[in-house]
Amino acid sequence: MPSYNYKCDQCGAVECHQHAPAERLSLKCCGHLMAWQFPAPALRTNTTFLANRGTLDKQFGTDTAGMKKTLAAAKRRGHTPNMNDVYMPTLCAPGRPGDPEAFIPADDPVGYVKRLCKKRNWACDDDQIKAKRSQRPPPPRVPMAEKIVRARVNEAVARDPSLAPKRARLREEIIVKHSRK
Ligand SMILES: [Zn+2]
Repeated sequence: MPSYNYKCDQCGAVECHQHAPAERLSLKCCGHLMAWQFPAPALRTNTTFLANRGTLDKQFGTDTAGMKKTLAAAKRRGHTPNMNDVYMPTLCAPGRPGDPEAFIPADDPVGYVKRLCKKRNWACDDDQIKAKRSQRPPPPRVPMAEKIVRARVNEAVARDPSLAPKRARLREEIIVKHSRK
């Protein structure tokens, strides 16, 4: 599964998540949704871009069935790909496999992808993504001693016996509440 960056326009925090190309996560930072970003670090220059991928005739390797299926999907959408194109499934608009716009011409792939991102209003800022890492604090690892957690759970249940069946949830709430200072 490809990974995608989500960026907070407010504080610049970047988070990386793996998911299917058609998916979009709703992640919040600084009180608003983080912007989904096209995986731009792979772009850099035309040479590195092509070296990492290879053109259409090579990139499917022995998977001729997969290639035929993709080409057929593109043709159905009115586009006949050039064998020198680079097919990039992550560029397919959500729910549009074989999206004609996902076939990148080999003469200027980076320029093409940047123009396409601009047209789609996708953030595509390779330098910034490379330079910035998530500024969110990592989740607490060993937040509380098990003995203390259990004692707190028991206290809460003693105060309110109706919580007894929800001990597992209670336990998590206590850990979260007490490990953030
Ligand atoms: Zn933020």
